[in-house]
Amino acid sequence: MLQINDLTKTYDNGVRALDGVTLSVPKGLFGLLGPNGAGKSSLMRTIATLQTADSGSVRFDGIDAAAAPHALRHRLGYLPQDFGVYPRISAYDLLSHLAVLKGFTNRAERRETVEALLAHVNLFQHRKHAVSGFSGGMRQRFGIAQALLGDPDLLIVDEPTAGLDPEERNRFHNLLAALAEDKVVILSTHIVEDVAELCPQMAVLAAGRILLEGAPADLMDAL
Ligand code: ADP
Ligand code: ADP
Repeated sequence: MLQINDLTKTYDNGVRALDGVTLSVPKGLFGLLGPNGAGKSSLMRTIATLQTADSGSVRFDGIDAAAAPHALRHRLGYLPQDFGVYPRISAYDLLSHLAVLKGFTNRAERRETVEALLAHVNLFQHRKHAVSGFSGGMRQRFGIAQALLGDPDLLIVDEPTAGLDPEERNRFHNLLAALAEDKVVILSTHIVEDVAELCPQMAVLAAGRILLEGAPADLMDAL
């Protein structure tokens, strides 16, 4: 269970991105819906311990993000909204290098983990191809494999389906739904259908505040 309590964040330019966000996120797939500029990425980065809030707290399974960011980082995987430029090396080699950074020092274990993760996201047959040549959907699935490297209990996925065709979007949704069977998975999006179709629980964020929280079916009238 992820517990977010009264989180506030004002950037140096005076923008108040988070304005008292309180949220309980249970195991399963949780949708964070909000328009551009709502504060979704600010909230996701704060949960991922990549930035700190001005006040308030983030706790996961009793681990406080401000007090023990390293402990929390060991438990989470984060797929940022845009994850930059990939070097022209194969998917297998890239994931293997990232695995070394994650502490997979044993070669046999690393190979087994990397192959299993690429198979899990349906990229095993593309493992020898460069990620720089992958389609948007393939890149997103590679990003999930990357985020899963530490075997996290908390997976944070920021605006993943932008620019995906419907088939890739479905495939990606199915992958997230399967992962959410034994994890907390937070999906941020500005697309109502993404949360309505997929997430048993959701919240609506606008101007740094949680406006609504609950099951999509109960909130649809308000959306
Ligand atoms: P969303 O992900 O919902 O689009 P963001 O968290 O990216 O929202 O942004 C919320 C607000 O904070 C926006 O007004 C944005 O311009 C501003 N913002 C985001 N990151 C920064 C930053 N590093 N410095 C200054 N302002 C920022
Ligand atoms: P240690 O934490 O003792 O250094 P490892 O080096 O084996 O253990 O693993 C480092 C991290 O990788 C741990 O978070 C562990 O849960 C994770 N991990 C280990 N094996 C796998 C695997 N086969 N698939 C996914 N994650 C793994």
